[in-house]
Amino acid sequence: MNREQHQKVPPRHLKRAALLYVRQSTMRQVFENTESTKRQYALRDRAVALGWPRDEIVVVDGDLGHTATAAGDREGFERVVTEVGMGRVGMVLGLEVSRLARNSSDWHRLLEICALTETLILDEDGVYDPAHFNDRLLLGLKGQMSEAEIYVMKARLHGGILSKALRGELPVPLPTGLVYDTQTRVQLDPDAQVQACVNLLFATFDRTGTATATMKAFRKDELLFPRRVRKGPQKGALIWEPLHHQRVLQILHNPRYAGAFVWGRRKERRLPNGHTAVKFVAPEEWISLVPGAHAGYITWTQYQANQQQLLENAKAQGDDRRQSPPREGPALLQGLLLCGRCGDRMNVRYSMRRGGQQVPLYLCDRERTRVGARTCQSIPGASLDEAIGQLLVEMVTPLTLEVALTVQDEIQSRLAEASRLRKMQVERAQYEADLARQRFMNVDPNHRLVADGLEADWNAKLRALHDAQERCEREHAADRAPLTDDQRARVLALAVDFRRLWRDPKTPPRERKRLIRFLIEDVTVTREDTITAHVRFRGGSTRTLTLPIPLRAWELTKTSSAVMTKVDGLLDSHTPGRIATILNQNGHRSGNGRPFTRKMVFDLVKDHDALKSRYDRLRDKGCLTQEEMAERLGITPPTVRRWARHGLLRAHPYTDRQQCLYEPPGAHPPRKMQGHKLAGRRAFP
Ligand SMILES: [Zn+2]
Repeated sequence: MNREQHQKVPPRHLKRAALLYVRQSTMRQVFENTESTKRQYALRDRAVALGWPRDEIVVVDGDLGHTATAAGDREGFERVVTEVGMGRVGMVLGLEVSRLARNSSDWHRLLEICALTETLILDEDGVYDPAHFNDRLLLGLKGQMSEAEIYVMKARLHGGILSKALRGELPVPLPTGLVYDTQTRVQLDPDAQVQACVNLLFATFDRTGTATATMKAFRKDELLFPRRVRKGPQKGALIWEPLHHQRVLQILHNPRYAGAFVWGRRKERRLPNGHTAVKFVAPEEWISLVPGAHAGYITWTQYQANQQQLLENAKAQGDDRRQSPPREGPALLQGLLLCGRCGDRMNVRYSMRRGGQQVPLYLCDRERTRVGARTCQSIPGASLDEAIGQLLVEMVTPLTLEVALTVQDEIQSRLAEASRLRKMQVERAQYEADLARQRFMNVDPNHRLVADGLEADWNAKLRALHDAQERCEREHAADRAPLTDDQRARVLALAVDFRRLWRDPKTPPRERKRLIRFLIEDVTVTREDTITAHVRFRGGSTRTLTLPIPLRAWELTKTSSAVMTKVDGLLDSHTPGRIATILNQNGHRSGNGRPFTRKMVFDLVKDHDALKSRYDRLRDKGCLTQEEMAERLGITPPTVRRWARHGLLRAHPYTDRQQCLYEPPGAHPPRKMQGHKLAGRRAFP
């Protein structure tokens, strides 16, 4: 073996340098794993034994303190490749040479270059000449094994993390408000002020329903929110800062506040420039979610409800979804209506009724306009508007305002809670100032440098205390005083004014729409067997209305069946005009509530097959037309009319313009009798 080894190192190689490649990945390994470093440097002695002069052995350790799986960012490896490529190297030495390169393609590239430049490779197992097939095969295998080893190691590590995460036991950094106890169990932060602040945030969101309103409520009361420092020398310290909208969202979206363990909410991806892109993934893609894994501030159900609320807020605030300002036209709910099926905002369209009256129709047809889909649903507007108006008049009563005033009292008590929190802030500032003062007092006054630093710290703490005190006092003064009796009376009077204004027919639609916007946030409607309208009032209360689907226009004007029967009876002996008069005299009205006219009765008969016209009835009885009669009697039609007028023939009018049918004359028809006055021959009254 030894002989063979020497055979592989001919003198021409010894004229070139030997490169000793030393690598450790992390700084920590550099400090702690000195054993491996020692072994790496011991290789130098092997090279000397093979005949290299000690000063011809160059140590390359450019990768110390680097971790990389690609050659791109490893100077040391690049340097080895360059040196070998220039033909300046006789042998490359490494503890596990295959680890020179972190992936196979880099490694094979190096072997190829070594073979071309007749460079040998040495590791703890022996000397290899990459120009020989057997050696190259072995080295290639070593490279593959090394890559596989890294993969397996990573997979084991990841697998361990994964199974812990799936059990909900993986210790990961916690959000502010939650801490690990000594047994790495998750607890609520023992700091009472932190707990109170987190609780207040959830309660405020519950009350206001939006993250922005929650943030504003904190800002208005000048309440600060805690943040625990995660890393650095200040790790674990609490920082008090104003609440941001983004922060509220982070807290509301974080399942850990609901006591759920979660892992894999974010996905990291390597970018070509070496940076990492972080992306939040949808809950369905979270790797692990274990509800009820530890203590929380809210329940899991509440968490889900909050997510739903945030989603709806996003929908309502997204593109093109803003509540639209009141426009002309009488549709009260224009711009306030949401479709209960798809969540889109609904449009309004008007149709003209007789008499120039505009009738609104609410339509969910955005998709239809955009991509030609079917109209999602349409809701007749008149009855809905009417019902909502009625609801408003019912809601805005002295009674409901009384309730509102009671709520106002409750808000007053919430202000007390806010004030308590502010007082706690002052106490904390006081405590920290005292601590800083004590530290300053305890230090040796001759130790100027430390004393100065501590004094500055003390001053800063005193300033913070002063600020907190000032804020507390200012807010306390501003906290709204309870309403006086006079103010209450004026609020209650508003209810009466509202009803008067709403019912006044002279109030234009535009003003009504403005009133409605003061009171209603939005209305979600669904049309099924009935129309369901969920009304959301400003301030959070809701009402649900159920309305029957109103009759269509033609159904509305339909004449009642009682009237139809009546008309049927009257047709036996009366003309349409006469029937209209009789119906009106008896108090009957048409489907749309108007008195009957001759034309209406005429149309009614014409449009309904069930009603046989008076003409047909008379014809069925055998009545003759004027012409038929004239022919039968051998007289002219005008004579027929004259004879009928004088009672020689019996005539039955079938229109109101004296158009008649004539009863057959019978066995003794009247004949022409010259010289006899018609008046004397009357046979019928
Ligand atoms: Zn829809």
